[in-house]
Amino acid sequence: MPEVPSSILIVGSGVFGLSTAYAFTQRPEYANTKITVIDRSPFPSPDGSSIDTSRIIRADYSDPAYAAFAAEAQTTWRKTSPHDLGGEGRYIESGLVLVCNEGMNPYVKESFENVRTMCGYEGAVHELPDRSAIEKAVKTGGGSGNWGYLTQLLLCEIELTDLDQRSGWADAQASMIFLHHLASSTNRITFLIGTATSLIFSPSSSVLGVNLSPSQQLHADLTILATGAWTPSLIDLRGRATATGQTLCYLPLTSLEQASLSSMPIFFNMSDGCFIIPPRNQILKVARHAYGYSNPVTIRNPSPPSTAAYEKQITISLPRTTWDEPQQLVPSEGIAASRTALISMIPSLSTRAFTSARMCWYTDTPTGDFLITHHPSHSGLFLATGGSGHGFKFLPVIGERIVDAVGGTLETPLRERWRWRSDEEIEGLNGDCEDGSRSGQPGLVLREEMERDAKKGSKS
Ligand SMILES: Cc1cc2nc3c(=O)[nH]c(=O)nc-3n(C[C@H](O)[C@H](O)[C@H](O)COP(=O)(O)OP(=O)(O)OC[C@H]3O[C@@H](n4cnc5c(N)ncnc54)[C@H](O)[C@@H]3O)c2cc1C
Repeated sequence: MPEVPSSILIVGSGVFGLSTAYAFTQRPEYANTKITVIDRSPFPSPDGSSIDTSRIIRADYSDPAYAAFAAEAQTTWRKTSPHDLGGEGRYIESGLVLVCNEGMNPYVKESFENVRTMCGYEGAVHELPDRSAIEKAVKTGGGSGNWGYLTQLLLCEIELTDLDQRSGWADAQASMIFLHHLASSTNRITFLIGTATSLIFSPSSSVLGVNLSPSQQLHADLTILATGAWTPSLIDLRGRATATGQTLCYLPLTSLEQASLSSMPIFFNMSDGCFIIPPRNQILKVARHAYGYSNPVTIRNPSPPSTAAYEKQITISLPRTTWDEPQQLVPSEGIAASRTALISMIPSLSTRAFTSARMCWYTDTPTGDFLITHHPSHSGLFLATGGSGHGFKFLPVIGERIVDAVGGTLETPLRERWRWRSDEEIEGLNGDCEDGSRSGQPGLVLREEMERDAKKGSKS
């Protein structure tokens, strides 16, 4: 168990950083610890992956450890008084229809079994054995896939109230604002705006804080990197975590369309990765959970200056967002996949144009496990990242577990999942996330897709 630090600097105010800061304020042993949170942009971060119209809150995991952890988070999401996280429309329990194409995708099948076990009785999760059952369950006039299940009994055959397991979605930005308010009102956290450009290393390679510019530094006993997809720019995480861009497309609805779709469940096809969350404020989002696009950039190795690695350049994938580049376009490949999904999932909207699209960046690890651990070679440095496209739902519980991990009390199985993998374990890995949930083509490079689109554009 490490000693309690007298100062903790958390870099990043996304769901990992902010929930950690709040959790520290709730622990008596940290009552005298100075807690600082710094983010490169004002809250809510315009390009952080925790900020968006919606995020799915589900316990449908093929891994029982995450299924149980998500079910724990859901007990808080389900509290819906105005003073609770799930209140004021921040959490909507719409149900989830998870489907796949051509038989039983192992991830979907395993999720089905886990959710059924957690529910305690078979009828709590409803199998959808064919396309017509899927179409009946989603109530959008369309369908997708040919096998799946739903986790809220929208078919109304069984009483809902006693179910332990249901799925829904959260207004991500509103939930983060709620958490920020909770954290600020403790009056224990100093919030700063600034970009950490590098870590400050001692001669023995301990981390002493971060550099904000050549002349400005922030020192702390413990530095926690909760910098999401940007983390590999501050510490070498090759083979352990990488940024992958995912597409999001939005289209406006009429009030009649909004009303007619308001009772649809979340509709997710794990085979092509595309999913639609019920609309809000007359905006519908079509998204894709895929291998995504990499954005390779070459930087100086962020290792300590005293090491040989420091002199070398490394090529890693980092986010490219509208904060850096306001006019950023989204590859037509991603928009076309969203269009195909929309046509089959909600045919009445098939010709409706997407009025906006953007990239959102996952911090992908090879196994889809989070990376929540002390750095094995740099004392004073803790990593709280690796969301791998599924971290948001843990907002009510992840900070507590990160604080456990800081103090050395995180229990297995999560400690085992979130550990630092050895060099042998990651040797030869190209960074693709192989957690079984990913679809689409691996190896897509954002720049190449944009160049292909530019050529097509210049020919037409
Ligand atoms: C398109 C998309 C859909 C998703 N859907 C779901 C879903 O349905 N359900 C679910 O559970 N999860 C989902 N996720 C995953 C979830 O949103 C992420 O796992 C989670 O938000 C990660 O939070 P974070 O705190 O690690 O990162 P972020 O929210 O990105 O926070 C990182 C912060 O660090 C700051 N920062 C970065 N570099 C620096 C620096 N050098 N100095 C200072 N500040 C810095 C950034 O400004 C940012 O605010 C989705 C993610 C995406 C992108």
